[in-house]
Amino acid sequence: MAGVRAVRASSAGDASRRLYDRIGAFLFDQRLEPDPTNFAFAYHLLENPEGPLARAVAALTDGGVRLTRRDIESLGCEATPGQSEATDGKKAEGLVAQTQMQVEGFEDIMHAMRAETEGFGRDLAASAAAINQSRAEVGNDGVMLDEVARITAAMLTRVRTAESRLESATREASDLRKKLEEARDNARRDPLTELPNRRALEEAFTAQSAAGERLCLAVCDVDHFKSVNDRFGHAVGDRVLKAIAEALSQACSGHLVARYGGEEFAVLFAGIALEPARATLDTARATVAAKRYRLRESDAPLGEITFSAGLAAGARDDSFQSLFQRADRLLYTAKNNGRNCVRTG
Ligand code: GH3
Ligand code: MG
Ligand code: MG
Repeated sequence: MAGVRAVRASSAGDASRRLYDRIGAFLFDQRLEPDPTNFAFAYHLLENPEGPLARAVAALTDGGVRLTRRDIESLGCEATPGQSEATDGKKAEGLVAQTQMQVEGFEDIMHAMRAETEGFGRDLAASAAAINQSRAEVGNDGVMLDEVARITAAMLTRVRTAESRLESATREASDLRKKLEEARDNARRDPLTELPNRRALEEAFTAQSAAGERLCLAVCDVDHFKSVNDRFGHAVGDRVLKAIAEALSQACSGHLVARYGGEEFAVLFAGIALEPARATLDTARATVAAKRYRLRESDAPLGEITFSAGLAAGARDDSFQSLFQRADRLLYTAKNNGRNCVRTG
């Protein structure tokens, strides 16, 4: 009996060992760091080689391109069994990640080709020099050597042309990669205030809440903002929004300040309790209210600009929507209580 158990234990041990070795080989092959995220990804992939994650990886790596950390992050969400259909946004994200990975793979290939053609070019240049040297020694009647020298020189020219084409293709690929990164960043930034937008806010909430971070969310809404537009015009209204964005960012530095939409801002406080979050937000409110806004053109005063805010502490099972809803309700209490104040719950 003890023998059978030992055989069973050892065959289970062998299987574990093989899985462990395959995970290591996979990470090494893909040039991925053996950190917990990559390790967990490789484990899920190799432990179920017929599963949806394995199929997604096979589709991505078809053609010999390697996985990047971004692919792992995007696959980690999308290919987890039991999750609902990916949203359009996520699909677009996946496409960007995939294109980026292809560009990176393309760059790798070109670097390798360049290294090879450079070596080949050096060899050709050396052999052309050697041929010229031996022609000088043999004299001018070596027809055969003439022909070899001509072919070598032609090949050298071709290699140099190929090298310069590769160089410009590498440059183009790296420009494309930068543009993709910019596009990814633009999709998460509000162009007027340059603050992170609603999408960036929701992503930050999801990531930090998954990491078990203590969170509080504030929703801030400018008071009677319509009247600023009506009295001074939309362009002035825009400048006021930029000034409020700056004041909020300064007062709440270290926390995520986002433009949620229109004249609404949100602050995601991480790692602090409700009371210090409230105190920080109230300082921001007082700073905005104390400013004397004036028209740039005539120096005429705009009058008092204030905002109201609702601030709620996150609970363990909160989704972004449930926490936002509580903060939004508190915002309306603040509005009904005379505006220019912060309400917490
Ligand atoms: P309340 O104190 O109840 O919040 O009053 P309010 O006037 O701020 O609220 P309301 O929702 O009636 O009006 C919001 C205004 O914000 C209307 C809209 O034109 C303006 N607004 C939204 N986005 C922008 C923007 O990007 N630029 C400018 N200039 N105005 C904007
Ligand atoms: Mg509003
Ligand atoms: Mg408003």
